[in-house]
Amino acid sequence: MSPADPPVPPTKDAAAPVLLAVRGLQKSFDNNQVLQSIDLDVSRGGVLALIGPSGSGKTTILRCLNGLELADGGTIDVAGELSIAFDTVPSKKSLTALRDRSAMVFQHYNLFPHKTVLENVIEGPVIVQKRPVAEARAEALALLDRVGLTEKKDSYPFELSGGQQQRVGIVRALALRPQLLLFDEPTSALDPELVGDVLRLIKELASEGWTMVIVTHELEFAREVAHEVAFVDDGRIVERGEPKQLLRNPQNERTRQFLHRLL
Ligand code: ADP
Repeated sequence: MSPADPPVPPTKDAAAPVLLAVRGLQKSFDNNQVLQSIDLDVSRGGVLALIGPSGSGKTTILRCLNGLELADGGTIDVAGELSIAFDTVPSKKSLTALRDRSAMVFQHYNLFPHKTVLENVIEGPVIVQKRPVAEARAEALALLDRVGLTEKKDSYPFELSGGQQQRVGIVRALALRPQLLLFDEPTSALDPELVGDVLRLIKELASEGWTMVIVTHELEFAREVAHEVAFVDDGRIVERGEPKQLLRNPQNERTRQFLHRLL
């Protein structure tokens, strides 16, 4: 790959081996056990949507997958190459490796306000991953071009619309060349007319074979983009299944009540 080429997602394997395997993941904040025991599998090129009531633990799952929060029980296995058990505090090296494998797209974009769009995108590749500036810059420009934001490369986040900021947030995640993309309600802070562009971009990335876990309240989007939907309630995955099936004909009473409230 030449430096100017945007990162290519990992090829979707015909046999679709598991990229992410989570078993018995637990997390407490003080005495509040937020994740009881989470089991997840996402195959390479797979898209998992997490839905569920506010406060059920969806964001905490993503943050544990990305090492932003330290789980206190269970295991995370990525690509069969990195396996971390959280019953004891993992080594700094394995946490760094975990952070390297995934990239997060946040609800509120989380761009650095005092850096330009381009600086925001190359920060991770250059400072964290120690990649050459020229290479990171060329790749960032190719990615910004792809999402139609070349002209905004020297703008600051406050000069952009929410939809543009979120597209920068997605480009920033892609520039890290992660194996796994994690989206935390990527459109819930956007004005309704800006939601479509961001969802379209995520759909494109899914169809290109990026592996993703997406927390979303957009059920129609989940139905279209996800290969599997999991309903999270009270720190547990209560039900999971093929999107059409789960959203149309949930088997669990709590899933039914949740969907009923939304529809
Ligand atoms: P969801 O994404 O489903 O809305 P969250 O994962 O954000 O749920 O939160 C689950 C629970 O964990 C909530 O009760 C929330 O208050 C609590 N929680 C999340 N982060 C923290 C934290 N850093 N400190 C204390 N409690 C937290």
